[in-house]
Amino acid sequence: MRFYVPTDIYVEKNCVKNHAQNLLAMGKRAFIMTGRSSAKKNGSLDDVIAVLDAGHVPYQVFDQVEENPSTDTVGNAAQQAREFKADYIIGIGGGSAIDAAKAAALLLANPNLIADNLHKAPEKPLEHIPVVAVPTTCGTGSEATPVAIITSHKIHLKKSIPHRIFPALALVDGKYLASAKKTLIINTAVDALAHMVESILNVYSNAFNRMCPEYGLKLWGELKDALLSDAPVDESLYEKLMLTSTIAGMSIAHTSTSVPHGMSYDLTLHQGVPHGPAVGYFLAAYVEVCKKKVPEDVKRILELLRLKSTADFTEMLEKLIGKCRVSREIRDQFAAAMKVNHSKLDLVPGGITPEEVDFIYDKSLVVE
Ligand code: NAP
Ligand code: ZN
Repeated sequence: MRFYVPTDIYVEKNCVKNHAQNLLAMGKRAFIMTGRSSAKKNGSLDDVIAVLDAGHVPYQVFDQVEENPSTDTVGNAAQQAREFKADYIIGIGGGSAIDAAKAAALLLANPNLIADNLHKAPEKPLEHIPVVAVPTTCGTGSEATPVAIITSHKIHLKKSIPHRIFPALALVDGKYLASAKKTLIINTAVDALAHMVESILNVYSNAFNRMCPEYGLKLWGELKDALLSDAPVDESLYEKLMLTSTIAGMSIAHTSTSVPHGMSYDLTLHQGVPHGPAVGYFLAAYVEVCKKKVPEDVKRILELLRLKSTADFTEMLEKLIGKCRVSREIRDQFAAAMKVNHSKLDLVPGGITPEEVDFIYDKSLVVE
């Protein structure tokens, strides 16, 4: 058994300001990567810039990271960062900005690697320049994982790249959620839930790495009523939401995600469904399939979430994210691809049959 998360992680209010010295110690020239507008609106970009200005660290901002970042965007960012002679990268935003920052940090340290080849397995592990992560959504936990999910539109693929890039520093502050609509909070919290459930219902789950999802699911169970209610999420819960998301990231850092995530990528790539619900649609049926294989684990997950049955789990997810409609042709195409996706199928405790894969699609999607 091994427990390994090498990121220096701080979770607290005014985190960036409080840990200015840690941020300044990362390097001499910072390249900042954000989405188009949220980092400007929620104050996270200003907080980082204030620290860099006070420390006289030159910086350049790249604010063109799109949702589900592409190899082209990462390539453009890396080119600009190289011209600027950046020696570290700060990713501010949701998982998209942070993942793009990780992939750009890899390209910067490896001038012979081009963005179009990011998904190809390297002959040996590659270096990267340091990455700082400042998350502003409460879902991916990318600040605590070595994973970067990048989309290649040229080969119609959304997948994690096969390189491990843990941020050196993560500065996690719930206050950035103040600008987020409730739907974004729900969508990303469902992603965090999936990370913890898929981490427990996983062949790599063990007593050591279970500490993270077990504690995180308890926190999620305490947050669930606020997510389900019609009222806006109270600001007193922002830090707990962020903490849960970071813990969920630490969970998948050890086990990786499993079948629901594997199924989600096609839904996002071809149907434009945001990541959280794309995963969430498949989660309840995955739990049902696992109930036959690892009943004690499913019982424990439900207990921690303060739910009585898998039917309650299904109902809760439906209330939060609704149902997804797809055509018969799309459903069959996705299911056929999933049945040979061994990188995810092989993670299911006790294995999974093609019939069970079909069961998950049929239970999760409304086929029209
Ligand atoms: P996202 O794609 O990063 O952001 C979604 C939207 O939310 C964007 O429009 C963004 O605006 C906006 N936004 C971000 N923070 C906000 C805030 N505080 N207030 C208001 N709006 C805000 O969403 P995400 O769900 O966090 O990330 C999804 C990506 O992460 C997917 O590509 C997924 O596959 C990946 N992922 C990675 C890991 C990992 O371990 N690395 C794990 C799970 C998922 P702007 O564009 O203006 O910023
Ligand atoms: Zn996810």
